[in-house]
Amino acid sequence: MTKKTKQTELTAKLLIWYDENKRMLPWRINPTPYAVWVSEIMLQQTRIEAVITYYERFIKELKTLADLAQCDDDRLMKLWEGLGYYHRARNMKRCAIECMEKYGGTLPADFTALRSLPGIGEYTAGAIASIAYDLPECAIDGNVLRVFSRVLCSDADISLTATKKQFRSIISEYLPKRSGAFNQALMELGERICIPNGMPHCEKCPIQAECLAYENGCQLMLPVNQKKKSRSLEEHTVLILIHDQKVHLTKRPASGLLANLYQFDFLDGCCDEAAIGKYIESYGTLQSLIPLKDAHHIFTHKEWHMHGWLAVLETRQDDGLWADREALVHTYAIASAFIKYKEICISFLTGGYDNESTAL
Ligand code: SF4
Repeated sequence: MTKKTKQTELTAKLLIWYDENKRMLPWRINPTPYAVWVSEIMLQQTRIEAVITYYERFIKELKTLADLAQCDDDRLMKLWEGLGYYHRARNMKRCAIECMEKYGGTLPADFTALRSLPGIGEYTAGAIASIAYDLPECAIDGNVLRVFSRVLCSDADISLTATKKQFRSIISEYLPKRSGAFNQALMELGERICIPNGMPHCEKCPIQAECLAYENGCQLMLPVNQKKKSRSLEEHTVLILIHDQKVHLTKRPASGLLANLYQFDFLDGCCDEAAIGKYIESYGTLQSLIPLKDAHHIFTHKEWHMHGWLAVLETRQDDGLWADREALVHTYAIASAFIKYKEICISFLTGGYDNESTAL
């Protein structure tokens, strides 16, 4: 397969996936240049879920660039209250005033002109140009850099300007006519599938066949970001699921962090009692649920903060791997990240479980 054919395949698969899976977000309903711009500025350093309400209120109150250009500063700050990074709102007003004066009340349909406006960097200019005007421009954010580092299995340091420039040139070769959809597809893939912390969901990825990191099993090592000094913190819930003096175990994926090791049921985030009850439903009926002490584990690039629970089932309807004490101690290799929970589990299976010292 030629390089061009590979690129075309990746682009086509990505667009199909996007058309079928994209989130319906308010700024996608009618992606005018103004709507795209407001949403992109709000989304900087802010989660999508947090932005939606702000976006809807902002657009309702300030329907056009002219409204924003004339908006009283106090009112503007009030509309932005709680969103943080207030210089973004101030720059937006400056930008709106400039657009009124220079571009007849619209955002210009030109990357360089957009880039020169207050508060609009390379990424935002690319996003407006491609999403609102279908211009052949890339919009490269952290998500896109991560996805392409992995697709190309590139160990170039993404914190360097030279790398971003190189990626811009490479990604522009993939750009289809629907440049806006392509850019959004890459970003959404990075947010939902090719995630930053933890193992990406390669099994659900539409471009798995084109991904060299997947082929080489090095997804978790990429992208390289030398600037990133601090470890990322992840919250997880560890559930020791017991039935008939046996504990439920699962095997971790064959590649990535703690590959092929065994673990207790391991859930993303800090789950409350109700969420755990729901999770347990597919395993059987619950007899008792005991909260355990939290545990931490530090890896080179990340830190797990784990919330533990011990659940005893009355009946079981699951045929997965259930290990007795002997097998837990001697047969299955449990990742050392779970050492504290393993000790609790062994005590419980031995009959020496100390509710006082292990439970909350
Ligand atoms: S296969 Fe995995 S690593 Fe490669 S792009 Fe898809 S999610 Fe990312």
